[in-house]
Amino acid sequence: MRYQTFLIKYAEIAIKGKNRYVFEDALMHRMKLVLKRVPGEFAVSKAQGRVYVDCNGECDADEVIDALQTVFGINAICPVVKVPYSDYNELEKNVIKYIEEEYPDRHKTFKVFARRANKSFPVHSTEMNSELGGAILEAFPEMKVDVHNPEIMLNIEVREDIFIYSKQIPGPGGMPIGTNGKAMLLLSGGIDSPVAGYMVAKRGVKIDAVYFHAPPYTSERAKQKVVDLAKQVARYTGTICLHVINFTDIQLAIYDKCPHDELTIIMRRYMMRIAEHIAKENDCLGLITGESIGQVASQTIQSLAVTNEVCTLPVFRPLIGFDKQEIITVSEKIGTFETSILPFEDCCTIFVAKHPVTRPNANVIRKSETRLSDVIDELVKKAIETDEVINVI
Ligand code: ATP
Ligand code: MG
Repeated sequence: MRYQTFLIKYAEIAIKGKNRYVFEDALMHRMKLVLKRVPGEFAVSKAQGRVYVDCNGECDADEVIDALQTVFGINAICPVVKVPYSDYNELEKNVIKYIEEEYPDRHKTFKVFARRANKSFPVHSTEMNSELGGAILEAFPEMKVDVHNPEIMLNIEVREDIFIYSKQIPGPGGMPIGTNGKAMLLLSGGIDSPVAGYMVAKRGVKIDAVYFHAPPYTSERAKQKVVDLAKQVARYTGTICLHVINFTDIQLAIYDKCPHDELTIIMRRYMMRIAEHIAKENDCLGLITGESIGQVASQTIQSLAVTNEVCTLPVFRPLIGFDKQEIITVSEKIGTFETSILPFEDCCTIFVAKHPVTRPNANVIRKSETRLSDVIDELVKKAIETDEVINVI
């Protein structure tokens, strides 16, 4: 018996009334897109408040499930065996066969949960529960009924066809991409920012990204690493429009004119300013960074405050209260970790001071920045002009 249908479960709390359609349409749209990459022919449909994937012909269930596990909004995926509408005896045979094939180890508790959407079926659901339960116990004496907390919840739904399912594979949760606007991710080659992008996207936010590179101090391979990371995040978010900005001249000017212990913080302020400019030009409603309190000198609460003050858009920092190990756990789960730890320098590591300020004072930093005043507007303008847009799919 193979799965011909997948029943998709999603959280319904946030989707009352009109929002429900927006949510479901965005969910189905994304499901169709990810299934295009899976061999086979699929139909995604909605019926009676549920979303289904039907495979027309052969399909590899594992591949379908892998693809659907990248769709935010899906809480669980139930692979369904569909058998033709029949009489009760035939259904019983099919149910026994299903258990035999699905559960090689049958030392388990179970409960039958039958529903009869198609009332022409002559056996009522309560009767089905007890009849099928009895038949299962007879066929597999090692199984036991537990109506309160069964290991196997055997769902039988009589419709045009009959659905049999009992497994629920977890989805990523969250809300479908596109249901919550768009934000600009500051994406570096590190561990944190791809995770930050993933987490905000999980709430339904479409993501664009900006990467600041500093050739020749940073290499083509460092840039490629960021593209690769964007690609991995895009498995979940859909196409990411990645803006690559040449930051070298700004960095050199800061290095040249500003106190070295303030380099990182001033550099971060210019990154935020430019990111905000690009964000606004591209209808993004916020910025996203991978910052976490206290992780490095530029992420003390004082540094974050000083970085933050140059922005008018909200800055989302979903990792703010995460320990490094917690961030790594997510990055392993979403598949970015291996790429993130590749040893290519990013532009922050080259111009770092030995002893960066950890408690910057905003007035002092603003004053230091005035040393750039004769060149910086022109440099920022030029940097924005270098914007190379890569559509990462
Ligand atoms: P990550 O692991 O994300 O690189 P990090 O621990 O190295 O973070 P920082 O280098 O202080 O931390 O950067 C903090 C945040 O600033 C990053 O999470 C990212 O959002 C942004 N950022 C840093 N460098 C760049 C860059 N070259 N281009 C774009 N964004 C950057
Ligand atoms: Mg970094």
